[in-house]
Amino acid sequence: MLGHSHATSGALAWSAAAVALPISAFTYPVIGSGAGHLGIVDLLLGTFLTAGAALLPDADHPNGSIAHVLGPVSHFLCKIISKVSGGHRHATHSFAFVGLVAYGTWAGEHWLGRNFTLGLVFFLLALAVRALHLCPPGKGFQSYSVVIVLAVVGTFAMDHWISDKPAWLPFAVGLGALAHLAGDCLTDRGCRLFWPFGWRTCIPIIERTGNRLEIWVLSPLFTAGTLALLWFAVTRQP
Ligand SMILES: [Zn+2]
Repeated sequence: MLGHSHATSGALAWSAAAVALPISAFTYPVIGSGAGHLGIVDLLLGTFLTAGAALLPDADHPNGSIAHVLGPVSHFLCKIISKVSGGHRHATHSFAFVGLVAYGTWAGEHWLGRNFTLGLVFFLLALAVRALHLCPPGKGFQSYSVVIVLAVVGTFAMDHWISDKPAWLPFAVGLGALAHLAGDCLTDRGCRLFWPFGWRTCIPIIERTGNRLEIWVLSPLFTAGTLALLWFAVTRQP
């Protein structure tokens, strides 16, 4: 699937969860009250951050567009992740990876505090900017400099609103990664969801990555669905 479809599917998953799930699901393992909803600010921040997190599994693809999100730095990191994880669509496209990023987010917030939270916010915003084509295309400086500037501006804006340890952030990161896996399972290559076991899960509806169905039907539907669900979630706030 294209980065754009992954990002919009992440946003859709977040807004659907906000409507369907109790607050305690978002804040697990911190014990929530079990009642109430996410605040409007958290709802909107979470939409962008889950969209960014929906790109994380493709960190194993050094030639993908996401690899160039922060220029040579991210390209180098993606090469390492690709080697360590066994290549494209192996370890990072599994339930184990979903658990790892969600737990890693919780641990980072818990042990490192606000600097970790803001660093992660910057990175996830950079991924969302790149995937949603809010920057010039390509691998060059003119592309990643725009990504960095927009992500820095977004992080400063969020700095004002976000708490030190947002209890919903590990959930958002895990949900984004999970939405990515669901999308890739719809393509003919599928995913090794149960890595390190070798079985591939695949329900091939999207025949070829980037085909017309994805560009003209799926992404616009995901975006419209996200806006409708967010509207519903915001208007039902007390
Ligand atoms: Zn993927």
